[in-house]
Amino acid sequence: MKPKVAFYWCAACGGCEEAVVDLAEGVLDVVAAVDIVFWPVALDFKRQDLEALADRSIAASFVNGAIRSTEQAEMARLIRSKSQFVIAFGSCAQLGGIPGLANLSNRQGIFETVYREAPSTINPEGVLPARTYQDNGHRLHLPGFFDTVRKLDDIIDVDYYVPGCPPTPKLLQEAVGALLSGNLPPKGTVLAPDRALCEECPRKDTRPEKLTLAEFKRPHQVLIDPEKCMMAQGLVCLGPATRGGCETRCINGNMPCTGCFGPTSRVRDFGAKALSAVACLAASNDDAEIQRILAGIPDPVGTFYRYSLPASLLERKRMKV
Ligand code: SF4
Ligand code: SF4
Repeated sequence: MKPKVAFYWCAACGGCEEAVVDLAEGVLDVVAAVDIVFWPVALDFKRQDLEALADRSIAASFVNGAIRSTEQAEMARLIRSKSQFVIAFGSCAQLGGIPGLANLSNRQGIFETVYREAPSTINPEGVLPARTYQDNGHRLHLPGFFDTVRKLDDIIDVDYYVPGCPPTPKLLQEAVGALLSGNLPPKGTVLAPDRALCEECPRKDTRPEKLTLAEFKRPHQVLIDPEKCMMAQGLVCLGPATRGGCETRCINGNMPCTGCFGPTSRVRDFGAKALSAVACLAASNDDAEIQRILAGIPDPVGTFYRYSLPASLLERKRMKV
């Protein structure tokens, strides 16, 4: 009997599922080694198929995406009960990810924008989605939409984490290999190197020992030198605060690191760490001048908490009541 494996997505973009497909011919090794019993994105599995499985009969379930709706929370709990190991796969499941930036608003604010205020919305009666709708003798139930986006381990117990937006196929293959071999690290481990990206960056030798900047630039404002450290070119690169293991894909593409692999084990709040690593470069002790320099980073939350707002100490923007 081959070990059973499941893949599921919650509030996600599909990129993490692509990482599975990006295994290319390596996917054949995975398929040969395991029995995929639930993967609704790729095959026609239904919730009843999962419910029919015995508790803990799935060896490992890879869940990507954050928790945005009641349905996702229910599915996560169901997967937990059917699985020996649950792996939070990708930054949305691990840290809240890009969907977690919705924590800058709430359910009411999002519904107002999407269904009433957006220029492309035509909704003269201002109708908003309801949990139940009845018409012609039929009753329709929709999942509830939470006020706050949460990471997976806020909802269920998680055994391991694979970081990245999306994770690399190599990390997925290594995670499957570790699970199949039984050669597992302690529960709660992030399955990627526990060192900063700068340590494995091909440009690290061009990063100055001491660096101060009189202005920050955005990638579209400069012709980026492909050999030189991004920070030394005035770009906000989060490599000093971000966990390595991504094979420096963005740097190889001549773009700065945006932090999708999250923090190393020594950091509690990724955004605060990244913010302090960048803000200390401002070349001034004068408040007004520091303000001017930092104004070169127009979206601080989106820059420093792009993937981790729900996992931060703040978790969400406090809304006026
Ligand atoms: S981690 Fe990135 S690739 Fe994966 S679902 Fe979230 S946004 Fe998409
Ligand atoms: S700051 Fe960015 S470009 Fe510079 S060494 Fe670190 S990861 Fe590489």
